[in-house]
Amino acid sequence: MSYIPKTCRLCGANLDPTESCDCLEKADTATARARAKLQHILDREGDANGERRCPEYLEALIREEVLAAQAENYMSVERFRSLNRAVA
Ligand SMILES: [Zn+2]
Repeated sequence: MSYIPKTCRLCGANLDPTESCDCLEKADTATARARAKLQHILDREGDANGERRCPEYLEALIREEVLAAQAENYMSVERFRSLNRAVA
């Protein structure tokens, strides 16, 4: 049986032949978190004369959430590595 890897058409991730990519789910999560953060900012600090209601502001918040998720994933890998070093 041949192993033919596939690539996600949306994000370009390399996947196993039977694997489905979770990038859409991650994007939905990041967007939901960013919208919640935006609402919190609007409630607490106002919309800065409409500046915080423009699409670019929400995009920046989504970008922050994506980076935070990547950082969390990276830290999980580093914690796993340091645990392995501790028992080696
Ligand atoms: Zn993907």
